[in-house]
Amino acid sequence: MSKRIRVFATCDIGEAIDLLRKRGYEVEVYPHPEAPPKSLVVEKVKSGIDGLITTLRDVIDAEVFEAGKATLKVVAQFAVGFDNINRADANRYKVPFTHTADVLTEATAEFAFFMMGTLARKMWTAEHLTRENQWGFWHPYLPFLGDEVTGKTVAVIGTGRIGLAFMKKCVGFDMNILCYDPAYENHAFVKTIEEINELRHSRGLVKEKAWIKYVPFEEALHDADFVSVHVPLLREGESATPTYHLFNEETLKLMKSTAYLVNTSRGPVVDEAALARALRENWIAGAALDVYEQEPLPADSPLRDPAIADRCRLMPHFASAARITRLSTDPDKGMAGRCAQGLIDVLDGNYGGDVTKMPYVVNKEGFK
Ligand code: NAD
Repeated sequence: MSKRIRVFATCDIGEAIDLLRKRGYEVEVYPHPEAPPKSLVVEKVKSGIDGLITTLRDVIDAEVFEAGKATLKVVAQFAVGFDNINRADANRYKVPFTHTADVLTEATAEFAFFMMGTLARKMWTAEHLTRENQWGFWHPYLPFLGDEVTGKTVAVIGTGRIGLAFMKKCVGFDMNILCYDPAYENHAFVKTIEEINELRHSRGLVKEKAWIKYVPFEEALHDADFVSVHVPLLREGESATPTYHLFNEETLKLMKSTAYLVNTSRGPVVDEAALARALRENWIAGAALDVYEQEPLPADSPLRDPAIADRCRLMPHFASAARITRLSTDPDKGMAGRCAQGLIDVLDGNYGGDVTKMPYVVNKEGFK
């Protein structure tokens, strides 16, 4: 009898685990909601597992791949971002790793859009007013006003899957769009949006025709009322245009003092100390964050300063946290399904065993 395929999952991913077990895989799931210590992951890998299911909380580097030298065939990441996995190490040890792109695109984009509206229209502050029984009168401008999103100009930094999906939402709100991406300009998409803007205008849905264009980074920050960030985390040496601290004192100062920043990408893309200062000193009007330099957000983070609470929305890395997006076992709908399918493709040798043909494998270059 052939040896059973063994898998360790660093966290529960729902019914997709049963799906793997039904295929005859022996699957062990780390039983706690927090990430396992790295030493435990190394120990499990060393014990001879074939597949490892990871989340963005697990650091997967040479130490893990060395431990898996004898048996580890695949790492299946439950996320689209994979900055926790050392790609060069994976390639050196010839271990393919997969991710769950596409299935979380719309959920993440709509969450970014909702964060933008919540921030600009001061919904959190307004609800607090009501709940704390501070709503004493209706008044034209007291105790505060928000800013409209409709008809404003938004800069989209990173025009990959989520950036494009975010723009689709903005079109419905008659927004002008400034696009910036140093590596990928999708002019066919821009043309499509222009056609939709033209139609909305010619049929009388809007008075003013909205526009969209690619511009340099500085121009995008300078001219936008809202800036939404949709880049991967790329550190120095990982890209010609790294994104680590892309938003810092210098670049935050390029934004209008009335503008808002929304970050659903990765925490280290924004220098949090600089952002806290920008909010305290009113260089910008506000920020909404879903991701942080350290997660969970530390108790002493300057972003928790009560003095900036009215203009700083803080979400718990929640943008993809919608039921179907997270847990559907359908690989075309859910991260769980896509994560399991990525694992199965490698372990069952689908696509003739050629990892370069497997759709969810990221590091194809390591196998050419
Ligand atoms: P993608 O690879 O399709 O798009 C990323 C785009 O960023 C690419 O077009 C790339 O060229 C561009 N880019 C790279 N460096 C840049 C730079 N210096 N400046 C501007 N653009 C740059 O990825 P995606 O599927 O759109 O996901 C984007 C990121 O969003 C992921 O890497 C992940 O970190 C993050 N994300 C977060 C959540 C969440 O829950 N908050 C959910 C999903 C994804």
